[in-house]
Amino acid sequence: ETERDAVLDALDNVAARLADEKSYLTDLDSAIGDADHGANMQRGFGKAAEKRDEFEELDPNEVVQNVGKTLISNVGGAAGPLYGGSIMFASQELEDGITADTSVAFAETYLDKVKDRGGAEVGSKTMVDALVPAVHTYKKSIEQDDLPPLSALAKAVDAAERGVAFTVPLKALKGRASFLDWRSVGHQDPGATSTLFILEALLATAE
Ligand code: ADP
Ligand code: MG
Ligand code: MG
Repeated sequence: ETERDAVLDALDNVAARLADEKSYLTDLDSAIGDADHGANMQRGFGKAAEKRDEFEELDPNEVVQNVGKTLISNVGGAAGPLYGGSIMFASQELEDGITADTSVAFAETYLDKVKDRGGAEVGSKTMVDALVPAVHTYKKSIEQDDLPPLSALAKAVDAAERGVAFTVPLKALKGRASFLDWRSVGHQDPGATSTLFILEALLATAE
């Protein structure tokens, strides 16, 4: 299997998982937002997965770049530009192919871009709460513990899961949920949750 096929399979799995979780993500967003996160994610990744034939012509990094572009044009709100723009920007790290090292660079650049664009930090009750532990765990597992990418990704998924749980008691400081002030406390963040689902789908693809 080529790297391109691996990316296309990952895209299919991510799109399918988000479609499965559409109503769950919508429920989470209805508690502290505007009840569209499930539809946003399903539509965006669904549109990208529909372009599979078009993407067959591209290099793996170009596929990732075009997934980002597709998200930007099909997902409105906060999550579209955050997910789409950051995926698009980070795709440059995959120009020389997809290896353990370039995947770490991709993950770090993606995280930096999300933080930079959205201004959220750990504790703001956003996708950053799942991403930071996931990316740090992934990097450490590969660079310090010398784990293969698949094991590193499994550890990153566990870390993201703890990050999602960590969002529940927080008061939202960014995005729509922040308009609720203390009433956002006690609810799980939708974007952190979709980030976890994406990572789980990537892991399932690699397994
Ligand atoms: P909208 O809030 O515009 O309807 P979505 O419902 O699709 O967009 O996405 C909401 C999610 O986006 C939140 O749960 C949160 O994780 C994430 N989010 C919102 N604002 C920010 C931000 N400034 N930085 C990082 N993530 C954010
Ligand atoms: Mg919303
Ligand atoms: Mg919205």
